[in-house]
Formats: sequence, C-alpha cells, structure tokens
Amino acid sequence: MPWLRGNLHAHTTFSDGVKEPAQLIAEYEALGYDFLAITDHENWIDDSYWRSLPKLSSKLLLFHGVELNWPRFDQHIGKVVGDRETLHVLNHPARYQLTVAQTLERIRRIVAGGIALDAIEVTDTGQRRPLYESPEIPLVKVATDDAHGPIHFGRAWVEVDASRSRDAIIRAIRAGDFRLGFA
Ligand SMILES: [Zn+2]
Repeated sequence: MPWLRGNLHAHTTFSDGVKEPAQLIAEYEALGYDFLAITDHENWIDDSYWRSLPKLSSKLLLFHGVELNWPRFDQHIGKVVGDRETLHVLNHPARYQLTVAQTLERIRRIVAGGIALDAIEVTDTGQRRPLYESPEIPLVKVATDDAHGPIHFGRAWVEVDASRSRDAIIRAIRAGDFRLGFA
C-alpha cells in the first residue's frame, strides 16, 4: 500500500488565504499530493463555507476543516473532519514562542476545557520547529504548510500509512503510522 502524502492545514479566500478553494486544490494536485484539508479561520467563515466545501471536486481526498480560536488565550487549534473521525491539532506553538513547559500547560488546559487534542504541529507555515518534536509532548507530531499563499505550498507534509479514506488517514495519524516530510 503506498503511503499517502497530504497537507492538514490550508487557507483559502474564505479567510486569509490568497487562493480560491478550487485554485488551492489545483496547486496540491500539481504537487502530487493525495489529500488536503481546507481549514479556514472560524471567525472569518459563515454557513456558505460549509455549504461550498462539499461541492468541490478534486483528484485529492479532501477534508473539510476549520481553524478554531481557543477562547481563553491566543491559540489556534486545527479541526480536521473525516467521515466519523475528527483530528484536533495544537497549531504552530512556535508562533507563540512557547517553551515545552508552556506547551504542556496549554495542552493540559485545552484538554481540560473539552478538546481532546491528538496532534501538535512541529512547523510554522511549513518551517520546521524541532523544539516541539520533544518526546515530553504527549501528542503525535505533524508537519503542515499552514498554506496561505504560494510561498507555503509544498513545504512540509505528512505521509500516512493508510488506505485512501478520510477516517483511515485520521486513525493512522492518531496511531503514529506516518512520517514527516520537508521540502
Ligand atoms: Zn492556519
């Protein structure tokens, strides 16, 4: 079974990305990816976002997602929606310049607040931030582009050992059956 390459974090013109959804999809098709999650910012989108995502067609396996704002402090959380499974990601801790101890405290508070985090980004807009690969952090470590514009496309990805289904990919990520890739 071939490993599936994908980006779990990307923005479109529904929020602060520069590409329309169909254009963004075309970029990742051209890169030879297998899957892509569209995850626009929750405070920018309305119902038209959720209505339009299912109408997109692609060679890629598409995940419909959203980037949440944690209400009690400045922290984005990726929500990648499968068919029955959902993956929650602590996004770009590097952007907040968190130490590992501060990261652990944030994880504790968010989990206590009701979001069962699965993963943490070890990238910031596709740039590797190895501090967060620490084994002290009890989440699986994912790499994403956090794609807003062309400079970000294809910088960092995951390659997942899973069959070609959204839920299988999410379960494999949760189980750690994947590897990171960097351009
Ligand atoms: Zn983002």
